[in-house]
Formats: sequence, structure tokens, C-alpha cells
Amino acid sequence: MTKHMSSLQNFNILNFQEKLLTWYYANKRDLPWRENQDPYKVWVSEIMLQQTKVDTVIPYFHNFIEKFPTVYALAAADEQDVLKAWEGLGYYSRARNLQHAVREVVEIYDGQVPDNPKELEGLKGIGSYTKGAILSIAFNQPEPAVDGNVMRVFSRVLNIDDDIALAKTKKLFEAIIYEVISHEDPSSFNQAIMDLGATICTPKSPACLICPVQEHCLGFELGIEQQLPIKSKAKKNKKIPYAVLLIRNAQNEIAIEQRPDDGLLANLWQFPMVPMQDISPELIENWFYANYGMKIKLGEKKSDLKHVFSHLTWELEIYSANFNQDIREEGKLKFVTEEELSSYPFPVSHIKMKDFV
Ligand code: SF4
Repeated sequence: MTKHMSSLQNFNILNFQEKLLTWYYANKRDLPWRENQDPYKVWVSEIMLQQTKVDTVIPYFHNFIEKFPTVYALAAADEQDVLKAWEGLGYYSRARNLQHAVREVVEIYDGQVPDNPKELEGLKGIGSYTKGAILSIAFNQPEPAVDGNVMRVFSRVLNIDDDIALAKTKKLFEAIIYEVISHEDPSSFNQAIMDLGATICTPKSPACLICPVQEHCLGFELGIEQQLPIKSKAKKNKKIPYAVLLIRNAQNEIAIEQRPDDGLLANLWQFPMVPMQDISPELIENWFYANYGMKIKLGEKKSDLKHVFSHLTWELEIYSANFNQDIREEGKLKFVTEEELSSYPFPVSHIKMKDFV
């Protein structure tokens, strides 16, 4: 760490800030959560932006804030309504944690989002990045908000070749940002770095020729900007095969079930899934009878679908099936009409399957 911190001695911090902020004031992206510095909206936007692109987030943000305009509205909402508003964004534990934390804000902090690191980091789902983003963007405090974008920009600017997949490297960049962040306008400084990383200093082809901080960039000076940052490969993504069953009852209704209340995609709804690691398609009916107590008739295969999560991939084969009885609920299954399907929150992979219903 000392090596990199000492490299800041030759770094003209004030001029870097000036160049960056001048560019930002003239070019900042017009984003709905930037209309004011409401900490609740900054918080919602930052949680949505984790793992998700800005363009995707914008309509979700509008819809979410319209439905839950304040911490009180979100705290009082039914979790299924919150998941429904999050439907399609993925990483649903973000939504559950957000609501959990907002309830704490209402109960413990009288509805005021805390403006200090200790209380903020005690809230569920708020890690060092979100904490820094809320403190700097909403409360104008000179706190770092370091994510992959910020590490990419500063790896290049300061020619740092530490592995950004390691937790200690993030700490290094936080220490660097404490040194270089503007104390006059920390809110804009952090947002400027975010914008620079998203629009100019992009992962594959940084637009160095129009970059406002080019004269401060060691990576550019040495011609190695494309080789930075250094990031070790993530663990291999595990593939898990499933058959997904679109089962109709005698009333032509379709079977859905709610996922368990913890783990992957907790509490969301889905079409029944049969794990296929150990069984062949001929055994699906037997497996279903053994696990659901229902004699279904397997129909034709409709399609294949792949869904990639951060740590695993679902390889899905979609089948139609029939359950020749007029029953609306059977164990954990529920039969609903096609119109009723839209009122349940589904994960992205199962939303796509609605096309085959
Ligand atoms: Fe990124 Fe190039 Fe700007 Fe350096 S000069 S910060 S590599 S865009």
C-alpha cells in the first residue's frame, strides 16, 4: 500500500480534481436520482445499480419510486409487491435487504436515513460502496465509494497493477480516494468518477483522446491503459440442468409455486423445476409423483433456455405437461389463469417462459 500511496506525492491532486469536476459539471448524465440529493432515492438507485446497467435501471427506478416514494411507503409495503416492482432486475436479495433496512430506518431512526458511517453500515445490504455513495452523494461527505469502475479508472491513472478481485486492493483504493477526493464537492467528485468510468474510461476501449484527466494518467502515458486493471479470474461457473414444467390442469390453468424463503431467488414464483443431474426425461413423471404426489402426463419439449447467475448457470429444458384433474391447489403448487400469472413476481428466466405457456 505504501508504494502506491507514495506515488500520490507526484500526483497533482488539485489539478486532477479541477479537470475532472469541470468536465463533470459540463457533461454529467441526466439521471433521475440526481434531481435532488434525497438520501432514500440515492440509496434505492445505488442498490439497483449494483450488477445492473444504468439504462436498465432508469425505468425500474421511476416505477419503484412512484410505488414507494418514501421510506415509510417502502417499510409498510407487502414484500410480494416489492419483489414485483423488482421483477426482471435480478439479484432479488437486494430488494429484500433494502426493505428490511428501510424498516429499521423507520423504527430506529425515525424515518431519517443515517448520515454517519457507523449507523449506515449497520443496515442490511449496505456495504462499503453503498455507504460511501450515500454519504458522499446525498450528504456531501468526503467518503470513498469504490466499485469496479472506480478501481479501473484509478488503476489506469496511477498505474496500479494490484489484483482488483482482492478485498485488500479495494481497501487500497479507498485509501487513495480519501487522499484525492474533493472536499469542496465530494458528491460531484464521486459521481464524476462513476461517469468517467461509464462513458470514457470504459473497460474495453477507453476514449483516452477525449479524456479530461488524460494529462494525469500514467497508464495512458505508458501506453498500458488497456492492460489495466489486473483482475484474477472468478471461479468456474457451475452448470445445473433442470426440466421446467408448464403444467395445465383440467380447467386449462397453469401450475406455479413459490420458492423457499431463503437462498437463491427466495420467495419468488416459478413454474415447477425438476433437477436433471441424475434423471433422464423418461423419468420426469415418476420424479414428479414422488416429490409432488401428482400424476402428470409429460407433453412435448417446447424449448431450451440458459440463465447465467454470477456463480452458476441454469440449463433449462421447457416441457408442457397435463394434470388431468380440476384442482386449484395441490401441496405447494397453485394453479392460476394466464391473466393471474402477471400478478406474481417471477425471476427473469421464468418470465421468458411465459412465452411458451
Ligand atoms: Fe482512462 Fe484513458 Fe482517461 Fe487514463 S486517459 S483515465 S486510461 S480514459
